[in-house]
Amino acid sequence: MTKQNGALSRDTFLFSDVLLAWFDVHGRHDLPWQHPRTAYQVWVSEIMLQQTQVQTVIPYFIRFMAAFPTLDALARADQETVLAHWAGLGYYARGRNLHRAAQQVVALHNGVQPANYAQLLALPGIGRSTAGAILAQAHGQAFAILDGNVKRVLTRFYAIEGWPGHKHVENLLWEKAEGLLPKARLADYTQAMMDLGATLCRRTKPSCNICPLNLACQAYLKNTVAQFPTPKPKKTLPTHQAWLLITQDHAGKVALVKRPNSGVWGGLYSLPEFSDKNQLLLSGVDLDSLLEWPMVRHSFSHYHLELFPVEAKKHRAVEETAEAIYWMTPAQALSQGLPAPIKIIISKLALHL
Ligand code: SF4
Repeated sequence: MTKQNGALSRDTFLFSDVLLAWFDVHGRHDLPWQHPRTAYQVWVSEIMLQQTQVQTVIPYFIRFMAAFPTLDALARADQETVLAHWAGLGYYARGRNLHRAAQQVVALHNGVQPANYAQLLALPGIGRSTAGAILAQAHGQAFAILDGNVKRVLTRFYAIEGWPGHKHVENLLWEKAEGLLPKARLADYTQAMMDLGATLCRRTKPSCNICPLNLACQAYLKNTVAQFPTPKPKKTLPTHQAWLLITQDHAGKVALVKRPNSGVWGGLYSLPEFSDKNQLLLSGVDLDSLLEWPMVRHSFSHYHLELFPVEAKKHRAVEETAEAIYWMTPAQALSQGLPAPIKIIISKLALHL
């Protein structure tokens, strides 16, 4: 975290100037933690506001403050009582950490909440953005915040591509957030950033037409607002492959095997399976009668499976391991429990008959 030193650029000056002018008219000035905006009130509100909207937090905050009006009162309370006042807000680790942090402030800082970035960050439940929010709002120090709302505003304003959860994108956003800090009115500016993100630059249907930043907002000017922030990339799942043997006897019955009880498709009937094509070819298949079927793709939660069915008229290995083979007509097979992709293959086989 760096403090804002030196002259502000023209762009920077305009951004905070425009935002503060908007905040003076449209921002939220009557939140309970703003009156008075003490370090303790700001801290409790910031913890409650993590993952939770302002309107939900307000009644909890008022009750919490009535029960624990000072940091010392919070530190002296037992955890059960603290959590009882958190009940309904969710994410109880926040309440537990707040309580532990209050006790640490008493033990380590004589009960005086630190106005120092490193000391705040060392307390349970206080991350970089929360520490910045407390220092800016309660002490007017030049620290930026980067909660979800601010990330959304900045990715749109600068048209920053890449998921904000990626470290390099997050670092860039911190750089931008710090670069925009004004020289004065840090508390109002911080609240203004939060308010703009929550009330105008919403996740869906942002009110760009009345947004004070729309003259310079890159995403708005390029008509690409809906593309920002870049969503979290979907996990790319590995793909496994297997080759399936389709072989039938003279009566049209197809050779099936029973899968082991444990593992994928446990206990279900399936076609004899080979982990690669060579293994299938070398296993005694009649090479002259081979017919390769189109690949069947199936997705599990952790991987994709590509199945390559190969039809062969005779198969030595199947004949030699007859006791492990179940011969069934396609209709009989379809009446059994079959894995979904095997069912597709056997259904096609039934149509051939
Ligand atoms: S113009 Fe639209 S996208 Fe840009 S900051 Fe304002 S509300 Fe957000």
